[in-house]
Amino acid sequence: MNSTSYSDSFDFDLDGIVDLITRTGAATAGLQFPEGFKRRAFSMACELEGRTSASVVISGNPCFGACDVDMALAGEVDILFHFGHSELLDGMDNVIFMETPAKVDVIPVLGAAADELESGTTVGLLTTVQHVHKLDEVKSFLESRGLSCVVGEGDSRIRHPGQVLGCNFSAGDVECDNYLYIGSGKFHPLGVAVAFGRRVLVADPMMNTVEWLDPERILRIRSGIVAKCLDAQTFGIVVSTKVGQNRMELARRMAGLAGKYGKEHVIIMLDNITPEAMLQFKVDAFVNTACPRIAIDDASRFNAPVLTPVEFEIVLGERDWDELVFDEIREGAK
Ligand code: SF4
Repeated sequence: MNSTSYSDSFDFDLDGIVDLITRTGAATAGLQFPEGFKRRAFSMACELEGRTSASVVISGNPCFGACDVDMALAGEVDILFHFGHSELLDGMDNVIFMETPAKVDVIPVLGAAADELESGTTVGLLTTVQHVHKLDEVKSFLESRGLSCVVGEGDSRIRHPGQVLGCNFSAGDVECDNYLYIGSGKFHPLGVAVAFGRRVLVADPMMNTVEWLDPERILRIRSGIVAKCLDAQTFGIVVSTKVGQNRMELARRMAGLAGKYGKEHVIIMLDNITPEAMLQFKVDAFVNTACPRIAIDDASRFNAPVLTPVEFEIVLGERDWDELVFDEIREGAK
């Protein structure tokens, strides 16, 4: 699937955007996209300028989640449309979160999924914002195949029941035998499997594939990284300036722990945490308090091991090895 056809598989609701710009009389509009949707930016900007009287500005910055709203652009325009994510934080009055649901039919992949799940068992349903509008349909289908389904509410960082983020698996906190995750990629379902110690079946409606996940490999890799850091003496504790990723309080707690165990440490604050940006900081290891995915997805590209806060606590002996889970950014219960 090439990237043009990929973005064509989602509903950007252009008519709704035109309507909102017209109704509010916005003279300037901003557009912000995650990487996979950026190819649509130019044509969408041209179309919106043709159909409304607003002038459009596109955010060229990388965008990884709803935690990462381009606040500078939001300050420049009357209204900012942020695509691909659900709202995460309150107080962004001129930012409209366009969830951009996938148009794909999820039913074809569910037959194979139902064959994998034992009739009479209870399944926790999970997905990303792109398919969350299909969960009622998924539930009806699976119940017609003799399965019981539960959908967790999640905490206040979660906008829709059953929705998971790469930093928040709270919607998986339900009583069930197994989980069914509808979506692409393995990060979210691996996080769920590790967090709750139950099996996760991944049904990808884009690729029409079904697969049971085995979290053992990633746990082995993370255990190896923890083991490598047991003798580390100097730590860079990384904090993000991004509005929805900033965990300075946690970073200060990590710094306090480092001090308690006689480890040299410094807090490093930056916007985009990339291997290139960290290259000049000569430390034995980093402790990442920003987006939890950074420590996992890009692990091999950094010049020093990147620990999550949980892993750092294991390195210091504050936690046991069997408490190794993915880092999450959890917030209040709903
Ligand atoms: S912190 Fe990371 S996983 Fe969480 S919303 Fe932001 S980009 Fe996504």
